[in-house]
This record gives sequence, structure tokens and C-alpha cells, in this order.
Amino acid sequence: MHDLTRCVQPPAVSHDGFSSLAVPTYRASTIVYDDPLAFAQRSERGLDGYTYGLHGTPTTRTLEAQLTALHGGERTVLVPSGQAAVAITMLAVLKPGDKVLIPDNVYPPVRSLCADYLAPRGISHEAYDPLIGAGIADLIDSNTKLVWTESPGSATLEVQDVPAIARAARARGVLTGCDNTWAGPLLFKPLAHGVDFAIEALTKYVGGHSDLLLGSITVRDLALRKALKGALGVLGIGVSPDEVALALRGIETMGVRMAHSGRVARDFAERLQRAPAVARVLHPALPSCPGHEIWTRDFSGASAVFSIVIRPEFKERIYPALGQLRLFAIGASWGGTHSLIAPMDVTADRTVRPWNAAEGLVRLSIGLEEPGELWEDLSRFLAALQAG
Ligand SMILES: *Cc1c(COP(=O)(O)O)cnc(C)c1O
Repeated sequence: MHDLTRCVQPPAVSHDGFSSLAVPTYRASTIVYDDPLAFAQRSERGLDGYTYGLHGTPTTRTLEAQLTALHGGERTVLVPSGQAAVAITMLAVLKPGDKVLIPDNVYPPVRSLCADYLAPRGISHEAYDPLIGAGIADLIDSNTKLVWTESPGSATLEVQDVPAIARAARARGVLTGCDNTWAGPLLFKPLAHGVDFAIEALTKYVGGHSDLLLGSITVRDLALRKALKGALGVLGIGVSPDEVALALRGIETMGVRMAHSGRVARDFAERLQRAPAVARVLHPALPSCPGHEIWTRDFSGASAVFSIVIRPEFKERIYPALGQLRLFAIGASWGGTHSLIAPMDVTADRTVRPWNAAEGLVRLSIGLEEPGELWEDLSRFLAALQAG
């Protein structure tokens, strides 16, 4: 063999005796076939076959299978972000003339997707009160094809009666989707409550280290998996096995990370209720959070993201008080090992249940730092708020 050929033909080495606990990272654009007939018939390999790197490698299939099992679904597809998981689901389901219902507290870029991208293409939307429950039936008309849910919702954390919404939609032949990013499959399983599409921003608790972007869509119905595959194929969307390898590592510790930071968050949420500058704490585990009784009924635990509502007289001190924090980093994309805090302005995004703009809103995500030191940091924030 010529040296130049040697350079492109790595020698086959023995795998005998090699057994690792890590999932190998298989990278590929090209998939190689045994013979021309196999290549010519590659489209017959079906939903799970390997045909082209964009459509999956054993690495991506492993995470998909793991999420499918956790959700009690049939199949999962991976996409490049949580936002992509919502967008791909809507693009796979909705056609011009159709309508999608979205909760008023939906992740803000989803509202923009509906208003700025889907609406000009003839797909309409309507925001609904996240606490509507079975009352969603009154908003479903003959054009409604999808009811979106997000529970608890972004920033204000209202918990939705997802089972009641899914029942009402199903009775009218309407599909439902649930953005389950706050709870993840360990704390809530949307498919078991009648939802058709369970989506997650794996960027958050599965990744768990603020260093990757990935999303997933899990379904029970293979016809929906086929529709998703169709959309992904023509849009040219796939995920990097390297991102997936990070997620496969992150998911191994998700249970202990979430249990720890969920416990600390709940303790902090209770203590923060007593701070003079705090009007209410919005954590689903507290009775002051709208939908708390549904959280108690449907969820098996609490995660570490919650918000505090600041009384109007302290609102203008929020920015300088945030400047006093030393451990909490200011930023979005929660669910990592570092605790995060961020001021939120939801006024423009609440069209059904108006938000009292006089109050301040601050969102926290508790990480894995020593809880005593974290509380000292929060105490500095509270002292600065109240010093004004
Ligand atoms: C972060 C988040 C998303 C988007 O996830 P990305 O991976 O950052 O695109 C979607 N939904 C919810 C509820 C989120 O918190």
C-alpha cells in the first residue's frame, strides 16, 4: 500500500478485551454500504436504519433510546436546541389554515415563532390562560390542530393541568405538545398524561453543565415520528455526536444533581418568602404558586428554578442589588452546576393574564455550590434591595 493510501486507510486494530462504560462517539457524514444493492435500497432501511450521518449514528440513537425509555415513549428524535424541538414539532404538524393554542407563559421565543414566522405563512395562534385546564375545549375550533403546553411555564411558573388539557384536545382529535424542560422525565412524564409530543431542552438538566445545546422530542405514535423525520430530513437538521456525547455524560448524574439542587431551591424559596422586599415566591412546591395543587398531584418532585416577585417599592433597586452577588452568575439557560439569577420582564409577553408591571420579577436557578455560602450571597442581595 502506498503511503498516501495508508494515510486515508487507518489500520484495523483489535477490539478484543476492550469493554468500556462510556458510549463511543461515532461521527459520520458518509455511511458505507457492503454492496451497490444495499446502497440503492438504503431508503428501505426504515426509521431506525443508518443511511446518512445527518439522520443519526449509534451515539445519537443511544441518547434517543435512553430518553424514550425515561419518557415511556416509542421513539425520540434529537434536534439542535430546545427551541428547535418546539419549532420542528410545530412545523411537522401545522399547515396553512391551521391554528395552534399556546399558553400565555410560554417560553418567549415560541411566541415569536408563532407571531413572526408561522403567522405570515398562514398558521394562526391564540394565547390562553395557563390555568385554563379543561376549559381549553372552548378555545378549540375546527382549525385548531395543536395545543401547546409548558408546565410550569417560563418565569412565572404557573403549573398547568396537562392531563385535563390533553383529554379535552384528544376528544376533539387535536394533538398536544408539552415543553417539559423544568421537570425533565424524572419529575413529570407528559406522555403518561395523554400528551402526544414531550419536548425537552436537554441544554438544561440533561446537559447540566452550561456547555451544550440540544433538544429532544419524544412520541408514542410512530406516525408522528415519521412526520418529524420528514420535517428534519428536508430542513437538513441533525445533531453533532460530540454534543450528544456530552449529554450522555450529563444524564448519568442528572438524578443526584436535580435532587440536591431541588432540595436547596425549595429551602431557599421558603426562606425568601419571609424577606420584606419579597411579595411572593413562585416555586411550584409552594402554595403561593398558581397551580401548586396540580404540581402536588402530577409531579414527583421539585426542580431548582423559581422566581421571586419583588414589591413595587423595591423594584428600582433590583439591578444594583444584583450587582452585589458574588456566587450567583447573571445569565439565562439554567439547570447547570453554577447558580444563576436574572431579572425578568414578562409584561409584553402576558396578553391573557396581564402582569402587574409595578412589581419586579427575578428568576433563580440553584446549582451545586455549598448551600450556606449560596444563602450568604442571596442575603447580600436582599440586604442591598432593602437598603434603599
Ligand atoms: C431554555 C428553554 C428552552 C430552549 O432551550 P434551548 O436549548 O436554549 O433552545 C425551551 N423551553 C424552555 C421551557 C426553556 O427553559
